Amino acid sequence: MKFERLEARYITPEMRHVFSLGDVDGLPRDIGPKRDMIALRGQTSNGVEAWSSIDTTKFPVYGSESTIEAWALLNEIGSKFVGKDFDDPREAVRSLGFLMDHPIFQAAFANLYLDAEAIDKDVPLFTLLGGEKPQVEVGVSISKNDSLEQIAERISKDKYRRIKIKVGPSQGDLDKIARIRTAYPDVLLMIDANSSFDLHNPEHKRLLIGYGNLDLLMMEQPLAYNDIVAHTQLQQEFNVNSVPGRICLDESIHTMSDLEQAVEGGIPIINIKVTRVGGLDIARKMIDYCQERGVDTWVGGMVELTSPGKAHSLAMAAHPGVTLPSDISGTSAYFKEGDDPCVAPMEREPDGAYIKVPTTPGRGWDVDLEKMDRITKDTVVFEVK
Ligand SMILES: [Mg+2]
Repeated sequence: MKFERLEARYITPEMRHVFSLGDVDGLPRDIGPKRDMIALRGQTSNGVEAWSSIDTTKFPVYGSESTIEAWALLNEIGSKFVGKDFDDPREAVRSLGFLMDHPIFQAAFANLYLDAEAIDKDVPLFTLLGGEKPQVEVGVSISKNDSLEQIAERISKDKYRRIKIKVGPSQGDLDKIARIRTAYPDVLLMIDANSSFDLHNPEHKRLLIGYGNLDLLMMEQPLAYNDIVAHTQLQQEFNVNSVPGRICLDESIHTMSDLEQAVEGGIPIINIKVTRVGGLDIARKMIDYCQERGVDTWVGGMVELTSPGKAHSLAMAAHPGVTLPSDISGTSAYFKEGDDPCVAPMEREPDGAYIKVPTTPGRGWDVDLEKMDRITKDTVVFEVK
C-alpha cells in the first residue's frame, strides 16, 4: 500500500455538553465544549480513499498526548508518510520515525492503513480484524457531574443495559452509585474513576471497599494511570477479603507488556481503547491474548466521531474476544446535530443496547465532506511531488 496524498485536518466539532473526567488534586479535567482532534484522509496509488483520526484531547488531560502537540508534530513529520510502499500497518507507523509514548498519534497511521486495506480488498473492516459479530452490545458513559435524575432518565428512556458512571473519591459519589444500584438492580452498573483514587489514603481505601461491595460489573481504573502494581494489589486484597469487586484497567494499558503485567497480576477485565494502545492491529493482538487467558475485554472510546474514529472501534468490538458491552454510544449522545462529519451518523438500534456492524467494504460509515469542511479549522496536505 502506498499513500500518494495525506490530508490532515484540525477539526473542532461542538459537543452537546462538557464531558467531565473528574478532578485530580482539585484540578478539573474537562473535554469540550469544542472537541479538538485531527482527521486524516489518505489517498493511495490504487485510488483508495481512507480516513482515520488522532483522538487526542486539546490538552493532555486524558493521557500525555494532546491535539496541540499532535498538530505541531504532524506538520513536522507528516511528509514522511507519503510515497512509500508499506506491507502492513506497523510499516506505516515506522515511516514516521521513532516517537516515544505516542500511541494515539501512531494509531491514526496504523488505522489509516487498515481502513485503506479493507476498501482495497473489498471486505468489511471488522472481518479483516477477525470480527464475527453482526452487532455489538454497547453501553453509555455518563459524565461525573450528571445528577441522579439525569442518570435515571438515561436508564429508563434510553434503555441502555450497561451504564458506566464517572466517579471521584467522595462519599457523595459512593452514595449516588449505591442509590442507583438499589433503584435499578437489573442494570449492569459500573464506575470509572479515571485514576482519581490513592490507595495510600485511608479515606480513599474505605470508599474503594464500599464500591467493591456494591455488586458492580467492574471498577474501572480507580488508581494512578502509571501504577499497574497498585491495581493488582487492590484486586488481590479484594480477593483475600472476599470483596466481590473486579478491577478493570484502562489508562494503564498502553503496550503488550503492560497488558501481560496486569493479567499476570490477576486483573480480570481490560478496557482496550483502539487508539490508546497504538492502533487496530495492536488492539487485536491484545484481545487475542486476553481471549486465550479467559480475561474479559471491551472496547472503550475517546469521545471520537463516527467517521473517521468510532467506526474503527465498532469494527474491533465485533471480535469474539470482546466479551462485555463496549463504550460505543450513538453520535447524538455527545455531539451537536450535524457536527459528526458522517453521511449517516452512528446510532443505536431502537432497543438501545446494540449497534449493527456494517457489512459493506471498509469502515461502513462515509465521510460527509460538507460537514467535515464546516468543522475544519486548519488543513495541511502532503503529496508525492
Ligand atoms: Mg476509562
